[in-house]
Amino acid sequence: MDTQKVMCPSARCREGAVLIGVVMSDGRVAYTADRLEITAEFVETAKQGRSPEKRFRFASPCVKNGCSQWTGSRCGVIDKVSEDAAPVLAGAPAADLPECSIRSECRWFMQLGGEACQACPLVITDLLTEAA
Ligand code: SF4
Repeated sequence: MDTQKVMCPSARCREGAVLIGVVMSDGRVAYTADRLEITAEFVETAKQGRSPEKRFRFASPCVKNGCSQWTGSRCGVIDKVSEDAAPVLAGAPAADLPECSIRSECRWFMQLGGEACQACPLVITDLLTEAA
């Protein structure tokens, strides 16, 4: 698949990015079923509060080697998140995959399938960046 069509689901809040979810009070992400491209106005408003990447999840094209998380052949983020989340998810009833507007283009889904979607709601982009 062409790189331009593969989306990173843990992107920065920038004009043109796709809003894929909102971080709820329990720290999990609730996904937006509709594809919503964010505007410059949204970015400006969102940056007036706490870091937008702590409150929302955004997607934008995966840049592969342009990203420090790219291992050379895959995204290191979801492999690590999935491994870390395994104890949390173990024993939990199998959940339906969240309705997500980018699944057909999602880098993480391409790598791990539904396993990625089980761990994905636990990801808060700003915390990931701080830990990297
Ligand atoms: S991993 Fe699954 S839920 Fe998360 S953004 Fe990709 S397709 Fe959507």
